[in-house]
Amino acid sequence: MTVQTDCRPRLLILDDDPLVGCTMQFIAEDLGLETRFVATATAFFAELDAWRPTHIALDLIMPDMDGVEVIKGLAERECRARILITSGVDARVLDAAGRSAAEHGLDFAGVLSKPFSAGELRELLASAPTAPAHATRPKAAPPPAAPLSRDLGAEDLRRGLEANELTVVFQPKIGCTDARLSGFEALVRWLHPEYGPIPPDRFVPLAEASGLITELTEQVLDRALHWFASLDRAPSALAGAQQLSLAVNLSAKSFNELDFVDRLAGRCERLQLAPERLILELTETSAMDDPVASLGLMTRLRMKGFHLSIDDFGTGFSSMLQLVRLPFSELKVDRSFVMTALQSEESRTVVKSIVDLGRSLGLRTVAEGVETAEVFDFLGEIGCDQAQGYHIARPMTGDTAQRWMRERSATQ
Ligand code: C2E
Ligand code: CA
Ligand code: CA
Repeated sequence: MTVQTDCRPRLLILDDDPLVGCTMQFIAEDLGLETRFVATATAFFAELDAWRPTHIALDLIMPDMDGVEVIKGLAERECRARILITSGVDARVLDAAGRSAAEHGLDFAGVLSKPFSAGELRELLASAPTAPAHATRPKAAPPPAAPLSRDLGAEDLRRGLEANELTVVFQPKIGCTDARLSGFEALVRWLHPEYGPIPPDRFVPLAEASGLITELTEQVLDRALHWFASLDRAPSALAGAQQLSLAVNLSAKSFNELDFVDRLAGRCERLQLAPERLILELTETSAMDDPVASLGLMTRLRMKGFHLSIDDFGTGFSSMLQLVRLPFSELKVDRSFVMTALQSEESRTVVKSIVDLGRSLGLRTVAEGVETAEVFDFLGEIGCDQAQGYHIARPMTGDTAQRWMRERSATQ
């Protein structure tokens, strides 16, 4: 195998066992990498800042700090190096640590359980990045002033809502076997005048806690449905738009309002959108919060024709029985498993079992967090219906999404 030699890759090894550290150095140097070995987390972070390694081998369990803490530290520093995790622990723990690294947006190469062979280490060091470094970042735009926005409170959000600072972006979903565009998911963003784009994870919980979620959902539905309805009226290049679906995320709180169903149905009627084209996504945990109350509301929504999707499936604790009782029509496999499907055998097993479960219950299955062609192919092989993720496209503004559709239909 070859490793680039003009600008030599640098491997930083953190391991409390000098024998393991030296062995790894020996193998990696043989492959043309420069190496440094440290035995403590403090020394590790000092080298990280000073030497800027391209690769990192990380022992998961060390006396002064555990590997998961180090992963967090690397994420905080927005580290771009490829990360290998090593340890003598159970393969499932290694898998979980790998998922944690990927979820933190780190470029995770894979795990090596000790004792590992020289060949295994060689293979991981030589493996190409799963995606360009920028594509593995969890959020599209690095918000330079994000730390300041930590102090944002309900009053700021109320002002933002009044000033129309919320915007909606759209991410496409395509068929896993025919790659045909099936629809979009609407995702909210807060374009703060001072702090720039703020991701939903930072303000949706705030909206839920402060009672602003009703207003937030209204604004999202308003913008998303208007954009979606405008596709039907767009020029001929968007022919087929009538077959597309639009998914919107709902918080359990707004979902539980009494007149929600009627208001939503009224909205669709005014825009001449068939409710069958709308998918309402609810997270597994929120749907199961109060399964009895949810059941009535969900049934009414389904009776009006809306589709219901169970989001982030695999992260909660719903029993299969509850799943069967609630009238979902779609199941979305949580992205933490999909994103790590290449590197983790356990993730692949989870994704496949969820897809099998969905199929046997007659639910459509959608995998989100599809970042590579390999994962997309894997999903086709196991019979998953649809895929969504950076490999297909990042969430886009309404205008960009329309352009994306035009360009796509022109090349197909
Ligand atoms: P979600 O519903 O699971 O949405 C998918 C998230 O995965 C989005 O994050 C999307 O940008 C991200 N994503 C898509 N493809 C990939 C990929 O290939 N790799 C990676 N690493 N990430 C990918 P986003 O937009 O930050 O949204 C986060 C969560 O915020 C959403 O998770 C959803 O639960 C919530 N959310 C978003 N919009 C709304 C909304 O309008 N209302 C409510 N109540 N919640 C919302
Ligand atoms: Ca969702
Ligand atoms: Ca999800």
